[in-house]
Amino acid sequence: MKAVLFDEFGDESVLAYRETDTPEPGPGEVLVRVSRVGVNRLDLMARVGQVGKISLPHISGSEVAGVVEKAGPLSSVPAGLRVAVAPYLYCGQCESCLRGEENVCLKSDILGLGSMGGYAEYVVVPEKSLVPVPQGVSDSAAAAVTLSTITAWHMLVEQARVRPGDVVLVWAAGSGVGSAAVQIARLQGAEVIATAGSDEKVSRAVSQYGAKWGINYRRQDVVEEVRRITHKRGVDVVFEHLGADTMASSLKCLARGGTVVTCGTLTGTRTEVDLWSLFAKELRLVGSYGGTRRDLADVLKLVADGRLEAVIDREMPLKEAAQAQARMAGRGQFGKILLAP
Ligand SMILES: [Zn+2]
Repeated sequence: MKAVLFDEFGDESVLAYRETDTPEPGPGEVLVRVSRVGVNRLDLMARVGQVGKISLPHISGSEVAGVVEKAGPLSSVPAGLRVAVAPYLYCGQCESCLRGEENVCLKSDILGLGSMGGYAEYVVVPEKSLVPVPQGVSDSAAAAVTLSTITAWHMLVEQARVRPGDVVLVWAAGSGVGSAAVQIARLQGAEVIATAGSDEKVSRAVSQYGAKWGINYRRQDVVEEVRRITHKRGVDVVFEHLGADTMASSLKCLARGGTVVTCGTLTGTRTEVDLWSLFAKELRLVGSYGGTRRDLADVLKLVADGRLEAVIDREMPLKEAAQAQARMAGRGQFGKILLAP
């Protein structure tokens, strides 16, 4: 099969599009013919050796939609089934898994980190990670929501429990996770303040995806703007995925009893927290890690019902994976970048 591999860690130039052996599914596994695979920041971190236990050569790609080609021994999935792959791999037996919280499995892994991913014509995945794609949802839309959107869903619905009437601040609304978050917060009945790094992205978040207010974080003071917009009250929830650079501002933006929910550390993992304001305002700082098969099924149903749009920046041929990763690194995109083998 054709795949994009890297034999050493480095910049985009280490990605090579070439022939490699098609993998064989083992017991409980299936071979999926990849139709679309999303580009995720994890892929960039894996490529430079910053995350996971990557063995070389490696194939990245966590966000897969495609068709079951064949099932391995002990697996009964029919060939031809259209599927999305829930990317948070899990054991199914630990205490987290038994509680249904497979995203925080004690043996957790992500497709394309500890295992070979979907930057290829075929990928082997556990049968138990498959979620059928409903009619009316394209392969592109399915791949686009498989990781970023379930992450946003898990953060806002399961962890922060956004309620009707809440005001939610979404950082970097032009990213895959941010563009999903604006829509999901609206679906929960909240009003959204979207931040983005360009006026064009800010206006798209407002005009296309339903944010009520927008802030350009490169030229406006986000804390001041939030105070102005909310008449000094602050917001109920901050959707945080940038990390060290923005966490202090995120906490300052909260109303009393408000929640910062976070899933990312793009700008660094360490920051200072003012504990006095944390307890005196009864603030909550909540972590959120990926999502579950149930989150993916919920999200796919919303897409099928036309209530949630899979925001796609562009689709590129698989062999242009290096250009696709460079585009993501430059933060030029609005929504997901997809690759087509
Ligand atoms: Zn487990």
